[in-house]
This record gives sequence, C-alpha cells and structure tokens, in this order.
Amino acid sequence: MTAAAPVVQLRGVVKDYRGQRDVVHALRSVDLEVAPGQLLAIHGRSGSGKTTLLNVVGGLDRADSGSIEVCGVDVQAASDEQLAELRRSRVSFVFQAFGLLPVLSAAENVEIPLRLQGLDRTSRASRVAELLGLVGLSARATHRPSELSGGEQQRVAIARSLAASPSLLIADEPTGQLDTRTGAEIMELIRRVVVEREIAAIIATHDVSIMDMADAHVELSDGAVISTQRPDVAWR
Ligand code: ADP
Ligand code: MG
Repeated sequence: MTAAAPVVQLRGVVKDYRGQRDVVHALRSVDLEVAPGQLLAIHGRSGSGKTTLLNVVGGLDRADSGSIEVCGVDVQAASDEQLAELRRSRVSFVFQAFGLLPVLSAAENVEIPLRLQGLDRTSRASRVAELLGLVGLSARATHRPSELSGGEQQRVAIARSLAASPSLLIADEPTGQLDTRTGAEIMELIRRVVVEREIAAIIATHDVSIMDMADAHVELSDGAVISTQRPDVAWR
C-alpha cells in the first residue's frame, strides 16, 4: 500500500520566545506528519507548546528553524502573502472560544469565507445551506451566536471552517469550553468530516477523553515530543 503524501510534515521545528531576560523554548525540534483523512491529536499540559505548534503549522506565526510543509507549501520560505493565501484556500482554524462574529447570523458567519473567495450570491446560499445541514443546524440559520448554545456555536464555527473546502483543519482546544458530552459530539463531528472529506486535522487538547477519537497522538512536554502513537502500533 502506498501512503498518500502527507498534508503536513514537520522536521526539526524550533521556536523560542525571547523576553527581556529569559528565553522560552516553546518548540524543541518537533517532527510530525499528518496524512489526508487522518486526525492527529496533540496533547500535553498547559504551556507545553500546543498552541505555538498549531500557529506555526497554520502560518500564523513563524518558527525559528526546521522545515514545515503544508499542502505542498514550504511555510518557512513562504511570504506573508503566500501564507495568507494558504489560509484562505487550504487551511482553516477552529478555536476554543468559537470566534464567531456576534452581529452576524449563523448563516452569515458561515458565508464569510465564501465571500472572501468571491463566490456569487446564489452559489453562496446553497453552499451555506449544505454546510449548516452537514453540522445539523439547518433550523438555526438565522440565529445569532448569542442565541445558540456553546455546542451549536462550535458547530457553526466548524461549518465556517469547511466553507472554503480546506485540506487541513487546525483546532485549538475545540472542546475546551464545552461539557464532556457536547465535547464528544463535536469531536464526533470533526472525526466524520475528516473521514468523509479526506481532510487532515490537527487538534490540540488536554482532554484525555477526546484523544481516543484521533488516529494518532503526539504528546508534548516543555516543547518537545515525548511520545508518538500511531494506529498500527497502538490502541486500535
Ligand atoms: P499550550 O498551548 O500547550 O498551553 P503555548 O504554545 O501557548 O502552550 O505556550 C508554550 C510556552 O510558550 C509557554 O511556556 C508559554 O508561556 C510560552 N509563550 C507562549 N506565547 C508566548 C509569547 N507570545 N511570548 C512569550 N512566551 C510565550
Ligand atoms: Mg494553548
């Protein structure tokens, strides 16, 4: 069996934060890969480097050294403009705090990336309807975020993240503000879209219960990968 080319490949990625007096070694030579249709969980305690890792993969921040390839793009060598284009067309983010615009309805929030892509009005409307259906929120299209539960808001955020048909979904503690059961439902939803749409996903979490839904785990401690588990060697 030939494995599909990885969507994400990191080799020896290093990132320091330099303060006035001290240096934080946020990432210490991190290696990892994620294939299409694969969900990788990054776990580790608060401060272990999870958010830093997601940010350098998604081109929101720059690593100091090492190589990062995302969807065939050399992220380290890419210009800011190329990184912006990567985020517009190939990579999307889901955050712990949902990140929806409060004055817009669920449908309008999902529509934002489609507007950025310049899609016409009719195509946008049908795509928004499809995406809200996918996350089970067709009946809440006109609701504003304040009129939705936390789990529903995260569903809208997931629908929005899928609008531009990304190859990579990056989620930073997406269940962190949800109760256990709702968090598990959100993970189920992410798991389903990863498989159905053959998206690669990287999810940071310190919630042990949702890690079981991932295909592989990377554990970070103090910026270093201290364990890696893959389905062929571990728990499946
Ligand atoms: P996690 O997401 O696992 O909680 P982070 O990636 O946010 O961890 O942080 C990793 C380390 O880097 C922590 O020690 C944190 O204090 C430090 N750090 C994060 N962002 C900055 C920053 N902008 N400036 C300085 N230090 C930072
Ligand atoms: Mg974090």
